[in-house]
Amino acid sequence: MKRRSLFNLSNTPVFYFLGACLLVTQYKSFCQAATLRVAPASPQPGDVLTLTIYPAAGEKIKAIGMAAFDTPNVKFYSRRDGTVRAYLGFPFDRTGGNYPLRARVQVARNGQDAEQVVSTTMHARSRDFPTQYVSMQSSTASKMSQKDALHQEKLLVQSTMKNSYPAPLWRGSWLVPTPGRSTSSYGRKRYVNGKWWGQHNGADIKASTGTPVMATNNGRVVLSQYLPTLRGNCIVVDHGCNVFSIYMHLSQRLVQVGQSVARGQLIGRVGATGFVTGPHLHWEMRIGWEPVDPFKVAHSGLEF
Ligand SMILES: [Zn+2]
Repeated sequence: MKRRSLFNLSNTPVFYFLGACLLVTQYKSFCQAATLRVAPASPQPGDVLTLTIYPAAGEKIKAIGMAAFDTPNVKFYSRRDGTVRAYLGFPFDRTGGNYPLRARVQVARNGQDAEQVVSTTMHARSRDFPTQYVSMQSSTASKMSQKDALHQEKLLVQSTMKNSYPAPLWRGSWLVPTPGRSTSSYGRKRYVNGKWWGQHNGADIKASTGTPVMATNNGRVVLSQYLPTLRGNCIVVDHGCNVFSIYMHLSQRLVQVGQSVARGQLIGRVGATGFVTGPHLHWEMRIGWEPVDPFKVAHSGLEF
Protein backbone atom coordinates (compact mmCIF):
# COMPACT_ATOMS: atom_id res chain seq x y z
CA MET A 1 0.00 0.00 0.00
CA LYS A 2 2.88 2.31 0.84
CA ARG A 3 4.29 1.74 -2.59
CA ARG A 4 1.00 2.60 -4.15
CA SER A 5 0.69 5.92 -2.32
CA LEU A 6 4.19 6.85 -3.41
CA PHE A 7 3.16 6.07 -6.96
CA ASN A 8 0.16 8.34 -6.59
CA LEU A 9 2.33 11.11 -5.25
CA SER A 10 4.71 10.71 -8.15
CA ASN A 11 1.92 11.21 -10.63
CA THR A 12 2.21 15.01 -10.43
CA PRO A 13 4.06 17.48 -12.64
CA VAL A 14 5.97 18.79 -9.62
CA PHE A 15 7.41 15.36 -8.93
CA TYR A 16 8.59 14.95 -12.53
CA PHE A 17 10.11 18.41 -12.48
CA LEU A 18 12.04 17.62 -9.28
CA GLY A 19 13.10 14.28 -10.72
CA ALA A 20 14.42 15.93 -13.88
CA CYS A 21 16.33 18.45 -11.79
CA LEU A 22 17.89 15.69 -9.71
CA LEU A 23 19.13 13.96 -12.86
CA VAL A 24 20.55 17.15 -14.32
CA THR A 25 22.20 18.18 -11.04
CA GLN A 26 24.27 15.01 -10.69
CA TYR A 27 27.34 17.18 -11.20
CA LYS A 28 25.90 20.60 -10.72
CA SER A 29 24.34 22.66 -8.00
CA PHE A 30 21.62 24.36 -10.06
CA CYS A 31 18.76 23.09 -12.12
CA GLN A 32 20.12 24.40 -15.42
CA ALA A 33 22.24 23.18 -18.32
CA ALA A 34 23.60 24.31 -21.63
CA THR A 35 21.05 25.00 -24.35
CA LEU A 36 21.08 24.42 -28.10
CA ARG A 37 19.42 26.74 -30.59
CA VAL A 38 18.96 26.31 -34.31
CA ALA A 39 18.28 28.99 -36.92
CA PRO A 40 16.47 29.74 -39.18
CA ALA A 41 13.18 28.91 -37.46
CA SER A 42 11.74 26.92 -40.38
CA PRO A 43 14.53 25.90 -42.77
CA GLN A 44 14.22 24.11 -46.09
CA PRO A 45 16.40 21.39 -47.61
CA GLY A 46 19.57 23.00 -48.99
CA ASP A 47 19.69 25.67 -46.29
CA VAL A 48 22.58 26.32 -43.95
CA LEU A 49 21.55 25.68 -40.34
CA THR A 50 23.23 27.79 -37.71
CA LEU A 51 23.61 25.93 -34.41
CA THR A 52 24.54 27.78 -31.24
CA ILE A 53 25.20 26.25 -27.82
CA TYR A 54 24.90 28.51 -24.80
CA PRO A 55 26.61 27.29 -21.60
CA ALA A 56 24.85 27.55 -18.24
CA ALA A 57 26.00 30.38 -15.96
CA GLY A 58 29.40 29.65 -14.42
CA GLU A 59 30.22 26.89 -16.91
CA LYS A 60 32.67 26.75 -19.77
CA ILE A 61 32.15 24.62 -22.88
CA LYS A 62 35.19 22.40 -23.51
CA ALA A 63 34.11 19.99 -26.24
CA ILE A 64 31.07 19.01 -28.30
CA GLY A 65 30.14 15.71 -29.90
CA MET A 66 27.39 15.84 -32.49
CA ALA A 67 26.25 14.01 -35.60
CA ALA A 68 23.32 15.27 -37.67
CA PHE A 69 21.84 14.40 -41.07
CA ASP A 70 24.75 13.35 -43.32
CA THR A 71 27.42 15.08 -41.21
CA PRO A 72 29.09 12.57 -38.87
CA ASN A 73 31.08 15.21 -36.97
CA VAL A 74 29.53 18.65 -36.69
CA LYS A 75 32.33 21.13 -36.05
CA PHE A 76 31.76 23.87 -33.50
CA TYR A 77 33.84 27.02 -33.18
CA SER A 78 34.25 29.25 -30.10
CA ARG A 79 32.83 32.74 -30.03
CA ARG A 80 34.00 35.60 -27.83
CA ASP A 81 30.93 35.48 -25.60
CA GLY A 82 31.64 31.88 -24.49
CA THR A 83 29.03 30.30 -26.76
CA VAL A 84 29.98 27.94 -29.59
CA ARG A 85 28.61 27.93 -33.13
CA ALA A 86 28.46 25.43 -35.98
CA TYR A 87 27.10 25.54 -39.50
CA LEU A 88 25.34 22.47 -40.78
CA GLY A 89 24.03 21.64 -44.24
CA PHE A 90 20.40 20.45 -44.30
CA PRO A 91 20.61 17.92 -47.16
CA PHE A 92 18.52 18.45 -50.29
CA ASP A 93 17.07 14.94 -50.22
CA ARG A 94 15.18 15.46 -46.93
CA THR A 95 11.51 16.37 -46.57
CA GLY A 96 9.79 18.86 -44.32
CA GLY A 97 8.84 17.86 -40.78
CA ASN A 98 10.27 17.77 -37.30
CA TYR A 99 13.88 16.72 -36.78
CA PRO A 100 15.35 16.25 -33.30
CA LEU A 101 18.92 17.55 -32.93
CA ARG A 102 21.14 16.41 -30.05
CA ALA A 103 24.69 17.09 -28.93
CA ARG A 104 26.88 15.95 -26.08
CA VAL A 105 28.56 18.88 -24.39
CA GLN A 106 31.55 18.61 -22.10
CA VAL A 107 31.60 21.51 -19.67
CA ALA A 108 33.88 22.64 -16.86
CA ARG A 109 32.48 24.06 -13.67
CA ASN A 110 34.61 24.95 -10.66
CA GLY A 111 37.49 22.99 -12.14
CA GLN A 112 35.41 19.84 -12.62
CA ASP A 113 34.32 18.35 -15.92
CA ALA A 114 30.79 17.19 -16.57
CA GLU A 115 28.86 15.97 -19.57
CA GLN A 116 25.46 17.27 -20.59
CA VAL A 117 23.12 16.42 -23.42
CA VAL A 118 21.47 19.33 -25.20
CA SER A 119 18.66 18.92 -27.68
CA THR A 120 16.13 20.85 -29.69
CA THR A 121 13.65 20.13 -32.46
CA MET A 122 13.99 21.63 -35.89
CA HIS A 123 10.75 22.37 -37.74
CA ALA A 124 11.54 22.13 -41.44
CA ARG A 125 9.51 23.09 -44.48
CA SER A 126 9.79 20.94 -47.58
CA ARG A 127 11.17 22.17 -50.88
CA ASP A 128 10.41 20.77 -54.31
CA PHE A 129 13.33 20.70 -56.69
CA PRO A 130 12.60 20.51 -60.41
CA THR A 131 13.61 17.57 -62.58
CA GLN A 132 15.92 17.99 -65.57
CA TYR A 133 16.47 15.54 -68.42
CA VAL A 134 19.90 15.91 -69.99
CA SER A 135 20.89 14.15 -73.16
CA MET A 136 24.46 13.81 -74.30
CA GLN A 137 26.54 11.58 -76.54
CA SER A 138 26.89 8.15 -75.00
CA SER A 139 30.70 8.43 -75.28
CA THR A 140 30.55 11.52 -73.03
CA ALA A 141 28.03 9.98 -70.65
CA SER A 142 30.15 6.83 -70.33
CA LYS A 143 32.81 8.94 -68.60
CA MET A 144 30.56 8.76 -65.56
CA SER A 145 30.92 5.00 -65.35
CA GLN A 146 34.57 5.45 -64.36
CA LYS A 147 33.66 4.74 -60.75
CA ASP A 148 37.23 4.34 -59.50
CA ALA A 149 38.50 7.55 -61.09
CA LEU A 150 35.49 9.45 -59.78
CA HIS A 151 36.04 8.09 -56.31
CA GLN A 152 39.74 9.00 -56.34
CA GLU A 153 38.92 12.51 -57.49
CA LYS A 154 36.37 12.91 -54.71
CA LEU A 155 38.84 11.67 -52.07
CA LEU A 156 41.44 14.13 -53.31
CA VAL A 157 39.03 17.08 -53.04
CA GLN A 158 37.79 15.93 -49.62
CA SER A 159 41.36 15.61 -48.33
CA THR A 160 41.92 19.34 -48.89
CA MET A 161 38.77 20.22 -46.90
CA LYS A 162 39.61 18.44 -43.62
CA ASN A 163 40.98 21.31 -41.55
CA SER A 164 39.04 24.47 -42.12
CA TYR A 165 40.41 27.64 -40.54
CA PRO A 166 38.83 27.77 -37.03
CA ALA A 167 37.33 31.26 -37.37
CA PRO A 168 35.38 33.09 -40.08
CA LEU A 169 37.56 34.48 -42.87
CA TRP A 170 34.54 35.84 -44.74
CA ARG A 171 33.06 39.27 -44.28
CA GLY A 172 29.73 40.74 -45.32
CA SER A 173 27.67 39.34 -48.15
CA TRP A 174 28.61 36.58 -50.58
CA LEU A 175 29.03 37.36 -54.27
CA VAL A 176 27.71 35.36 -57.17
CA PRO A 177 31.16 34.59 -58.66
CA THR A 178 30.45 35.24 -62.32
CA PRO A 179 27.90 37.26 -64.27
CA GLY A 180 25.59 35.17 -66.41
CA ARG A 181 22.35 33.28 -66.52
CA SER A 182 21.73 30.50 -64.00
CA THR A 183 20.87 27.50 -66.15
CA SER A 184 20.66 24.64 -63.72
CA SER A 185 19.84 25.43 -60.15
CA TYR A 186 21.02 23.69 -57.02
CA GLY A 187 19.13 20.54 -56.04
CA ARG A 188 17.74 19.87 -59.49
CA LYS A 189 17.01 16.17 -60.00
CA ARG A 190 18.87 15.01 -63.06
CA TYR A 191 18.51 12.20 -65.52
CA VAL A 192 21.27 11.79 -68.09
CA ASN A 193 20.14 9.91 -71.20
CA GLY A 194 17.18 8.64 -69.17
CA LYS A 195 19.30 7.29 -66.29
CA TRP A 196 19.07 8.68 -62.75
CA TRP A 197 22.12 10.82 -62.19
CA GLY A 198 21.48 12.48 -58.85
CA GLN A 199 20.68 15.88 -57.45
CA HIS A 200 22.72 18.85 -58.56
CA ASN A 201 25.31 19.74 -55.90
CA GLY A 202 25.79 23.30 -57.10
CA ALA A 203 24.45 25.98 -59.41
CA ASP A 204 25.44 26.29 -63.06
CA ILE A 205 25.98 29.75 -64.48
CA LYS A 206 26.16 29.87 -68.27
CA ALA A 207 28.88 32.19 -69.53
CA SER A 208 31.32 32.11 -72.41
CA THR A 209 34.84 30.75 -72.05
CA GLY A 210 37.13 33.37 -70.54
CA THR A 211 34.46 35.15 -68.46
CA PRO A 212 36.01 36.23 -65.11
CA VAL A 213 35.31 34.11 -62.02
CA MET A 214 35.61 35.92 -58.70
CA ALA A 215 36.01 34.63 -55.14
CA THR A 216 32.57 34.69 -53.52
CA ASN A 217 34.13 35.92 -50.29
CA ASN A 218 37.46 36.17 -48.43
CA GLY A 219 39.25 32.90 -47.83
CA ARG A 220 42.25 30.71 -48.42
CA VAL A 221 42.80 28.51 -51.49
CA VAL A 222 43.05 24.84 -50.46
CA LEU A 223 42.90 23.27 -53.95
CA SER A 224 43.78 24.55 -57.42
CA GLN A 225 44.20 21.64 -59.78
CA TYR A 226 43.12 20.03 -63.05
CA LEU A 227 40.84 17.08 -62.23
CA PRO A 228 40.15 15.33 -65.54
CA THR A 229 37.26 13.00 -64.68
CA LEU A 230 34.53 15.33 -63.46
CA ARG A 231 35.59 18.75 -62.21
CA GLY A 232 38.13 19.85 -64.80
CA ASN A 233 40.11 22.90 -63.68
CA CYS A 234 38.91 23.29 -60.13
CA ILE A 235 39.46 25.73 -57.25
CA VAL A 236 38.38 25.20 -53.64
CA VAL A 237 38.39 28.13 -51.20
CA ASP A 238 38.17 27.66 -47.43
CA HIS A 239 36.23 30.52 -45.82
CA GLY A 240 36.76 29.26 -42.25
CA CYS A 241 34.37 27.47 -39.84
CA ASN A 242 33.98 24.56 -42.29
CA VAL A 243 32.47 26.76 -45.05
CA PHE A 244 33.88 26.18 -48.55
CA SER A 245 33.24 27.45 -52.07
CA ILE A 246 34.12 25.36 -55.15
CA TYR A 247 34.52 26.53 -58.77
CA MET A 248 34.64 23.95 -61.58
CA HIS A 249 35.23 23.49 -65.32
CA LEU A 250 37.47 26.59 -65.50
CA SER A 251 39.57 27.38 -68.56
CA GLN A 252 42.15 29.10 -66.35
CA ARG A 253 43.11 28.94 -62.67
CA LEU A 254 44.77 32.16 -61.48
CA VAL A 255 45.46 31.27 -57.82
CA GLN A 256 47.57 28.73 -55.99
CA VAL A 257 47.13 26.57 -52.90
CA GLY A 258 47.87 28.51 -49.70
CA GLN A 259 47.06 31.87 -51.24
CA SER A 260 44.63 34.21 -49.48
CA VAL A 261 41.92 35.60 -51.71
CA ALA A 262 39.66 38.59 -51.20
CA ARG A 263 35.95 38.83 -51.90
CA GLY A 264 35.56 39.76 -55.58
CA GLN A 265 39.15 38.88 -56.51
CA LEU A 266 39.64 37.35 -59.95
CA ILE A 267 40.60 33.71 -59.33
CA GLY A 268 39.92 32.03 -62.68
CA ARG A 269 38.01 32.07 -65.94
CA VAL A 270 34.96 30.18 -67.15
CA GLY A 271 35.67 27.15 -69.32
CA ALA A 272 34.45 23.73 -70.41
CA THR A 273 36.98 21.38 -68.78
CA GLY A 274 36.00 18.09 -67.14
CA PHE A 275 32.55 16.53 -67.51
CA VAL A 276 30.54 19.20 -69.35
CA THR A 277 28.45 19.75 -72.45
CA GLY A 278 29.52 23.40 -72.87
CA PRO A 279 31.21 26.33 -71.11
CA HIS A 280 29.71 27.30 -67.74
CA LEU A 281 30.70 27.81 -64.14
CA HIS A 282 29.58 25.10 -61.74
CA TRP A 283 29.58 26.84 -58.35
CA GLU A 284 29.19 24.99 -55.08
CA MET A 285 28.98 26.06 -51.46
CA ARG A 286 29.62 23.31 -48.96
CA ILE A 287 29.53 22.99 -45.19
CA GLY A 288 32.15 20.32 -44.68
CA TRP A 289 31.17 17.90 -47.46
CA GLU A 290 27.45 18.79 -47.47
CA PRO A 291 26.45 20.89 -50.48
CA VAL A 292 24.08 23.78 -49.70
CA ASP A 293 22.24 26.18 -52.01
CA PRO A 294 24.86 28.76 -53.08
CA PHE A 295 22.26 31.33 -54.15
CA LYS A 296 20.63 31.13 -50.72
CA VAL A 297 24.03 31.81 -49.10
CA ALA A 298 24.51 34.77 -51.46
CA HIS A 299 21.02 35.99 -50.61
CA SER A 300 20.94 35.45 -46.83
CA GLY A 301 24.61 35.55 -45.80
CA LEU A 302 26.20 33.80 -42.85
CA GLU A 303 26.55 35.46 -39.49
CA PHE A 304 29.07 34.36 -36.94
ZN1 LIG B 1 26.77 21.83 -62.51
